[in-house]
Amino acid sequence: MACDECRALSTHAFRNADDLVHAVRLAAEETDRGVLSRIAEPALTQAAREALDSSLASGALPNTIRYRFRCEICGDTFTLHADTRSGEGGWTRDGESP
Ligand SMILES: [Zn+2]
Repeated sequence: MACDECRALSTHAFRNADDLVHAVRLAAEETDRGVLSRIAEPALTQAAREALDSSLASGALPNTIRYRFRCEICGDTFTLHADTRSGEGGWTRDGESP
């Protein structure tokens, strides 16, 4: 059940890179405000870490990103996932269908 603080963070699909950038920015703002907190992903495997390190070292973004957040007020969780090449992806309130 959404609370007043995170009610506006509804599930939606990104149509393009602008939508992706907007969602990342909003998530960062809400994290700064203390409403959202990042949920740590399980430790990457060694192979995945090396692939990520080499892509960051070359200045390239990973092709896909996936971040998870939790609302500090009501405990709802969210997933931001996207393909950074096309901008396709979405913001999902976990347990809610698009
Ligand atoms: Zn909330």
